Amino acid sequence: MNSATDSKRFFIHTLGCKVNQYESQAMREILLKAGFKECPSINMADIYILNTCTVTQAADRESRHTIGLFHRTNPNAKIVVSGCYAERNADDISFLPGVEHILKNSEKNRIAEVLDDTPRSALRALRSAPSREPLFITDFKDHTRAFVKIQDGCENACAYCKVPLVRGRLKSRSLEDVLREVRGLVDKGFREIVLTGICLGAWGKDFDSTMVAEGVGLTGLALVDILIALRKVEGDFRVRLSSIEPKYIIDDLIELMSKDERICRHLHIPLQSGDDEILARMNRPYTALDYKMLIERIRGKIEDIAITTDVLIGFPGESESNFKNTLAFLKEIGPARTHIFTFSKREGTAAYEMRDEVGKDIARMRYYRLNAASLAASYIYRRKFLNEKLDVLVETKRTRRAGLLTGYSGNYIKVLFEGPDELMGKTVPVRIEGLTLLHTVGGYDG
Ligand code: SF4
Repeated sequence: MNSATDSKRFFIHTLGCKVNQYESQAMREILLKAGFKECPSINMADIYILNTCTVTQAADRESRHTIGLFHRTNPNAKIVVSGCYAERNADDISFLPGVEHILKNSEKNRIAEVLDDTPRSALRALRSAPSREPLFITDFKDHTRAFVKIQDGCENACAYCKVPLVRGRLKSRSLEDVLREVRGLVDKGFREIVLTGICLGAWGKDFDSTMVAEGVGLTGLALVDILIALRKVEGDFRVRLSSIEPKYIIDDLIELMSKDERICRHLHIPLQSGDDEILARMNRPYTALDYKMLIERIRGKIEDIAITTDVLIGFPGESESNFKNTLAFLKEIGPARTHIFTFSKREGTAAYEMRDEVGKDIARMRYYRLNAASLAASYIYRRKFLNEKLDVLVETKRTRRAGLLTGYSGNYIKVLFEGPDELMGKTVPVRIEGLTLLHTVGGYDG
């Protein structure tokens, strides 16, 4: 029989993006403050929290599979499901064995109340009670780099994307809140802060006069203002921007990145397609030429910057010639890294209704063809740094097989090298000594 404290042992698992990982950390901190204990292993918990993702059908499947795994591991445990899959599919999830509570994304700050043996009947009253403090973190468990969420929601309407349906309208955090959180994390020893959001570049666009009156923000602020304000935060750390849409990359931002040594020379700018017809069908507000000109503008100011990107293949109507345009465009742009996604039909999106689906086998072959081009582009980018020293933030875990140290440079090159444990969590100079298509090997000489 468990004691009262034992029955408060939780295990939390996160699927999906950096925003979700941030929110899991925030829920973890709320629970720890409320007297719950975190279990290092799935086998020892009485409470399972799953923070789900719904970006693809595979993510939905993984969410359901993980709920099943939790229940099989401990059939008596309470399972709480939150995150984007839970947001739209609460009815399906609530019937799965073991699921006690479903929390909307906006209710994640109520995790402790919900778990405090609140009977189901009382939950409605709880939900109508005034909202709790917004999410806030002071640590980032199992991470060398800390993600700081600066906004939620998306103002765009890409035809394939379900995210705006589950994350809703723009909601920016105040500059003060962000700065307070960054200061705390830097004081805690984090050497890299990754500013993250659902639509990062739109930060501040929702600060209207009402919010200003309530002390939430100032009108006219933009992402670049956070970066400027971060200059005043003391400490040895660097700042990275997570994924940012092309339209938000303004000259002021490029200018600032070119001058401020603390900002990582890396931009992840989703391309999705290099073909104008497909970009238009996707409702992406630019052409391939616009994208190319943007990259040229950035590289003109910051020569060694890493441009990484996402490409979505197999979008409905993507012909062989549309795909070839994307392939050629990727070779021309030469990203340092490319995440390739295969189209996944999401209910409620514009693309859900589109005809001319691309067959699975064709999509798979396109994936391989694009992947080969992406690896070659990555190799060409990394080769520029051969024999150069890069500042690498060393991860707190060694590589599983070879037992090497590993870490990321400011320009997002993952480097493997030998060295003592003392380097973990520090930023150290590493000379790039060798490359393969997949790996970059370096040497640390103290
Ligand atoms: S910008 Fe487009 S792809 Fe990104 S979250 Fe918004 S709608 Fe989805």
